Amino acid sequence: MGRSFDIAIIGAGVGGLAAATLLRRAGHRVVVYERFAAARPIGSGLMLQPTGLAALERLGLRASIEALGARIDRLHGLNARGGLVFDLNYADLDPAFYAIGIHRTALHAALWGAFAESGAAIETGWTIVDIGTGADGRARLIDDGGRTSPGFELIVDASGARSSLRRLATQSKARPFAYGAVWASIPDLAVAPATLAQRYVAARIMIGHLPVGRISADSAPLAAFFWSLKPAEHPAWRTGFDDWRKQVAQLWPALAPVVAPLGPDDFTLATYMQFTARRPFRGPLALIGDAAHATSPQLGQGANSALLDALALGDALDATGDMAQALDLYARLRRKHVRFYQFASAAMTPFFQSDSRLLAEVRDLAFHRLKIIPWLRREMLRTLAGLKTGLVASATPGELAGTARAASNVGVDALVPMG
Ligand SMILES: Cc1cc2nc3c(=O)[nH]c(=O)nc-3n(C[C@H](O)[C@H](O)[C@H](O)COP(=O)(O)OP(=O)(O)OC[C@H]3O[C@@H](n4cnc5c(N)ncnc54)[C@H](O)[C@@H]3O)c2cc1C
Repeated sequence: MGRSFDIAIIGAGVGGLAAATLLRRAGHRVVVYERFAAARPIGSGLMLQPTGLAALERLGLRASIEALGARIDRLHGLNARGGLVFDLNYADLDPAFYAIGIHRTALHAALWGAFAESGAAIETGWTIVDIGTGADGRARLIDDGGRTSPGFELIVDASGARSSLRRLATQSKARPFAYGAVWASIPDLAVAPATLAQRYVAARIMIGHLPVGRISADSAPLAAFFWSLKPAEHPAWRTGFDDWRKQVAQLWPALAPVVAPLGPDDFTLATYMQFTARRPFRGPLALIGDAAHATSPQLGQGANSALLDALALGDALDATGDMAQALDLYARLRRKHVRFYQFASAAMTPFFQSDSRLLAEVRDLAFHRLKIIPWLRREMLRTLAGLKTGLVASATPGELAGTARAASNVGVDALVPMG
């Protein structure tokens, strides 16, 4: 079984805080290095799928997240003609399944609380740009001011989609998506309760509304609101804000009172990229979360995957004291699930965010109709719920979060990837 290591984690985001908590609880000596002076979340809200909820259960955070977040039972999308593009209910797959819309601040606070309790250390104000090797053979982090950290046996890169360190582990290249989005947190006026609701005009325009619950127990419920935008068009969108607001009210009248008080500064521009590390480790460096596999949030899986990565890495280190074997095992535990969602997300995004009229027509004609084939409906739901491990393969949330492997404390040979 495992032994305890000196581990540095780069980034106090979703994956970094989860990994630090789990690894510290398992007895490793853990230091997180975060670029910001105070670790903080950026952006609005996100969706925690049954997989992410199973992961949070293993972290002991599911109940507190569910208490603050908004339950999401359904994905519902209409095109500009009012035609149904999507109407998917988690309960059609399993009555016990649902997602949770959560504000990033609430998720970060819960992960931060568990991290602080675990006793792992944090160094803030370190922007890591490189890794060197000391005379003792241990890896050292180097920041943008030339500072060098103490030596570590394992470096976990959890620095997100724009990781500058993954080049040290893989030659895979990142590819930007044509469209990003502007996002804002807005009051939840019950426009679409328990629903991720979207409106599409061809694939050029996508408006989304996701209830995300409360930031704290005594604050008002919020929703995340987003609008597809090419990053290059952001300045024009800002100057034409009043006309844009009218366009939103026209396309989705129920949102008119929500956007009325907003200004362009209430929105954050998010850009998306596709990146998949062929092998998420090299030497003492392991990649997790968006540093290992970034994509557009079309399928809403990124944070969930970052949590699953953290659990798999912890389980692999628990299973063997051999670092090389553990990192290989981590990669194998996650490979099929990551590959499927990287492929599916890249394939699906142009149907919703692109200049292609053809793909939008195919989407409007086919997607909802395919639902009448029961097998396809289940596959669509499994994809949404984060359960797919291949084109025709899937796993349960507990299998993906390693709930059984944690309970049975099995060795390396038993930790064979599912799917
Ligand atoms: C608009 C938008 C909507 C999304 N919606 C969803 C959704 O509905 N569901 C879902 O599951 N996912 C969603 N995602 C994806 C999700 O946010 C990411 O997949 C997830 O946050 C990745 O976690 P991470 O830990 O890898 O990185 P992050 O959470 O991005 O954390 C990275 C951390 O590293 C720090 N850092 C970066 N560089 C350095 C450095 N050089 N040195 C030190 N520290 C550094 C950062 O400050 C940050 O704290 C969405 C993403 C976007 C942009």
